Amino acid sequence: MAGMRKITILGSTGSIGDSTLSVLEFAARNGEANFEIEALTANTNVEKLAEQARKFNAKFVAIADETLGDDLKAALVGLDIESGAGAAAVEAAAERDADYVMAAIVGAAGLKPTLKAAQRGADIALANKECLVCAGDIVTAAIREAGGRLLPVDSEHNAIFQVFDFERPERVTRLILTASGGPFRTWTTEEMSVATPAQAVAHPNWSMGAKISVDSATLMNKGLELIEATYIFPIPHDQIEILVHPQSVIHSMVEYVDGSVLAQLGTPDMRTPIATTLAWPDRAPSPSAKLNFAEVAKLTFEAPDLERFPALRLAREAIKAGGIMPASLNAANEIAVASFLAGGIKFLDIAAISEQVLDGVGKGNGPAALTTLEEAVAADRQARRLAEQAVAARAAA
Ligand code: NAD
Ligand code: MG
Repeated sequence: MAGMRKITILGSTGSIGDSTLSVLEFAARNGEANFEIEALTANTNVEKLAEQARKFNAKFVAIADETLGDDLKAALVGLDIESGAGAAAVEAAAERDADYVMAAIVGAAGLKPTLKAAQRGADIALANKECLVCAGDIVTAAIREAGGRLLPVDSEHNAIFQVFDFERPERVTRLILTASGGPFRTWTTEEMSVATPAQAVAHPNWSMGAKISVDSATLMNKGLELIEATYIFPIPHDQIEILVHPQSVIHSMVEYVDGSVLAQLGTPDMRTPIATTLAWPDRAPSPSAKLNFAEVAKLTFEAPDLERFPALRLAREAIKAGGIMPASLNAANEIAVASFLAGGIKFLDIAAISEQVLDGVGKGNGPAALTTLEEAVAADRQARRLAEQAVAARAAA
């Protein structure tokens, strides 16, 4: 991590935010980092945000919940740290002069702030896959035009990024996205029909935020990642394969015309891909455990089951149809997952509602092209509305 870098973390209080700060702390302790924290943002956790700001001497902090602005000010009293509240303050944080912005807000809520940071020309370390699913062409064009780099944080995309020959993409025959299979990998549909939120968020390998944990249980996460991959790598969706690999040691693979398959391996710890994005193309030490192959002993693989995990099929259909379909799928899933976590709908309803919304959007309007932020936001809103209706209908039934 050569030279002084200014770093902003959007969504600093979450799982990825925590891991990013822990990598920075580790690098600093090892004399490997020379950085300043420009801005940190959170949704509602004032206490944690203020604590992080104090510890890392941030210049600016923003809380998305407008009603918490005074609490944040009170928590920062006596410190030379500016603060703001509301969506505009989070965008203002993104617009501040940082060289590296970690986009780690969960959901389409991360779209506008990430775009602001991209338009300013910062390197974008992208954890927030939903913003690519919602508006992939718009976000990647903004990064490209402003001259920043897109550094994928999602472990699969980070793995592919490390072994992908960007100079000869025509020599790539296949991307193989690995999936752990989630906590319900071996469950029957009947068993999944009564799965609770606590069971769904108990991921066997990774410790993550609640929303992505549920997405890992439905395999919607892998579906979103399939769509995400089409925006990061110049490879058509039908050359991207999904492979269940329960040990989560091979984080993904790239196959070339000569039959060579290149992979990136490591322990399932997000601090490794985060460290990669912080140092790239250099390497920096990370606090994650190193891989012990003898202990892992066995790597196994299975084809994904599209019958039990229909979210994978929906993601394929959405990216194949293009237009507003990926954004619609993402928005419907966000509403359904939030309702499931709140006890409003059953586990299997998540994919069922997502499918219902895709059907509604497809039949009602036909998949329009999606080229502006306004169109992406409109597609997101429409799908949210339809999903909310579907959730309400299930509650009434
Ligand atoms: P999380 O729920 O732990 O954290 C989310 C962060 O976003 C928090 O700081 C929260 O305050 C903030 N936030 C939530 N809603 C917001 C809103 N409406 N406006 C502004 N800020 C808001 O989630 P996470 O697990 O850290 O995941 C973050 C992103 O990274 C997601 O897009 C996820 O898919 C992706 N990701 C996470 C992991 C992982 O291991 N956790 C791995 C790969 C990708
Ligand atoms: Mg991933």
